[in-house]
Amino acid sequence: MNTIKNKPIKLLPAFKDYLWGGTKLKTDFNKKSDLDIVAESWELSANEDGQSVVSGGEFDGYTMREYIAKVGKSVLGSKAQEMTYFPLLIKLIDAKTNLSVQVHPDDEYAERVEHSYGKTEMWYVLDCEPGAFLYYGLNREVSKEEFKERIDNNTVLEVLNKVEVHKGDVFFIPSGTIHAIGAGILICEIQQNSNITYRVYDYDRRDKYGRPRELHIDKALDVTELRPAPKLTQTQGGDDAVLASCKYFTVRRLRLNGKTEIDIDDTSFHSLIVTDGDGSIEMNDTKIELHKGDSVFVPAQKGSYVLAGEGEIVLSRI
Ligand SMILES: [Zn+2]
Repeated sequence: MNTIKNKPIKLLPAFKDYLWGGTKLKTDFNKKSDLDIVAESWELSANEDGQSVVSGGEFDGYTMREYIAKVGKSVLGSKAQEMTYFPLLIKLIDAKTNLSVQVHPDDEYAERVEHSYGKTEMWYVLDCEPGAFLYYGLNREVSKEEFKERIDNNTVLEVLNKVEVHKGDVFFIPSGTIHAIGAGILICEIQQNSNITYRVYDYDRRDKYGRPRELHIDKALDVTELRPAPKLTQTQGGDDAVLASCKYFTVRRLRLNGKTEIDIDDTSFHSLIVTDGDGSIEMNDTKIELHKGDSVFVPAQKGSYVLAGEGEIVLSRI
């Protein structure tokens, strides 16, 4: 059956001009914004802090929440029917300078303390400056006392696991893993739909009013895994590679080289982020042109769609 609710839709993001951001999302990823700095673009978001908006077609101008209210929750797929919140938040992030050192709670803690989801996240590195690095977990086991002391005396970086970054790298960050994206890194982030961040160190930076950003040390001490970081797994190559798979999401990297047919089922929607090149998606009498930086939502349904073109797409589902 071919109805308006099973057509793919193109999305425009919500933008964030956080102080650490750059301009590459505008210059390299075709993002159109009046903001001078675009730190983040929220490419698939029904989060109250910034929603994506439908572009073109019958639902042009609808926010993600308005679109779902109109067509029904079935577009999210059977796996999402029990969920209280939209399941994913997908962003592009341009870190011109370092992001704060932070940690996110798991579902149990977030539900109890924040009435929200926890946050497990994944980063796919789209671009980086030579020598760029980030922090991922601890480099050794530390006691809670030592961890707290190092936060208090600004030496916490010494016990973090510092990793050099290359284009194409994948980092899977379970809730409880302390982390910080470093300067000169542009990533696509796939995460649970939660905006709960416990900041433990911010390089003593000040905002434009001369104030430091708030730290959340007690909560961070509650949720941080104080063991060394899990080993990073190497992603296999190929035109269709799984970058990460966990109970919250599965993420694939598709390399486009001509036409390819992608199967979809009724258990989850697909989110497509065009990370390189140009092409198109065709499904149910709808054709959408794709360019680097574009975001498309494909409603859950039994069927398939055709991708054509040259480039790379990050496909996420729950
Ligand atoms: Zn984070």
